Amino acid sequence: MPDITYTKIVLDMASPKPPKANILLIYTGGTFGMERNSEGNLVPFNFARVVESIPVIRSFDLQISVVAFDKPIDSSDMNPTHWNRLIQIILDEESTHDGFVILHGTDTMAFTASALSYALPGLNKPVVITGAQLPVSMPRTDARENLITALEIASARQPNGQPQVPEVSLLFNHHLMRGNRAQKVQSSKFDAFRSENYPLLAEAGIEITYNQNAILPLVNQPMAGSLPHWFTGVGVLKLFPGITKPAVEALLNNPAVKGVVLETFGAGNAITSDWFINCITEAVRREVIILNVSQCLGGYVHQGMYATSQLLAKAGVVSGLDLTFEAAITKLMWVLGRGLSYNSTINDLLTPICGELG
Ligand code: ASP
Repeated sequence: MPDITYTKIVLDMASPKPPKANILLIYTGGTFGMERNSEGNLVPFNFARVVESIPVIRSFDLQISVVAFDKPIDSSDMNPTHWNRLIQIILDEESTHDGFVILHGTDTMAFTASALSYALPGLNKPVVITGAQLPVSMPRTDARENLITALEIASARQPNGQPQVPEVSLLFNHHLMRGNRAQKVQSSKFDAFRSENYPLLAEAGIEITYNQNAILPLVNQPMAGSLPHWFTGVGVLKLFPGITKPAVEALLNNPAVKGVVLETFGAGNAITSDWFINCITEAVRREVIILNVSQCLGGYVHQGMYATSQLLAKAGVVSGLDLTFEAAITKLMWVLGRGLSYNSTINDLLTPICGELG
């Protein structure tokens, strides 16, 4: 895996006033900073020009430093190495910054937001992830609004001086969501993300209205001293009517797979055929962790509510309750990466870390 290098620039804000806050803006790529090349394809362009495109940010009472990936990526290419690079940058810059804004492609933004949320409890500072559906260079772009609002939220403080949103959040189209509750639901409209199972943390209208009761309080917890090890021997089994035994076995019987997110119907329901339940039971016997999340965006898994999910509970499938798929797969990678016993791993999966479930 090639090293992910980046360049840091401290912007000259040319303001005579002392800054209200020090913000680190991290640019990873995505549509936000794309332009069309001579063949008509969208390709990433140099971040310095993104800042030129929104000169108004120079007029904020903020000191902004920029960290730009030397090779901006489409977020489809994001992987745990990038997550750890982002975590490392935040840890390195934590003592000199009040908040962080990450510009990220929308396609896997909710995965990165979930992963970062598990790695950063104890940071007690805002990390706002945002992006855009249209490049910043286009006339009807949503990039300007999203970046400006994200900067405002990352620097907002309560009257007592505490950060307004001291957690990993995702800002899109005027809505601030908990990062590990958000899901991309739209590829063409500006209203691209939803947080179906958790209220908005804030809404940006004429003013930004914070939903204080929904925002995590400061936590008295030291930051983890090392970067997470993300275990990638995980898989996804999405059920559909007509799924066959060979398809199920191909995943569950693969010795490299130690954890599976089982995407079930409705409130956690699955096929009751003997062959299916036997495959699941046999995988659990080999200590493969099977985490049940629903294909529905809203609601939660209730194993035992219907006979069709009771068999899963009996087979030892773990209920993912109201976890999003993105939060579930990243949590499975994070928890399995700790190398704990089977029972401790299940226990950690079911323990909320930063408001991702329950
Ligand atoms: N494919 C792009 C990405 O996720 C889409 C976007 O940024 O909206 O990087």
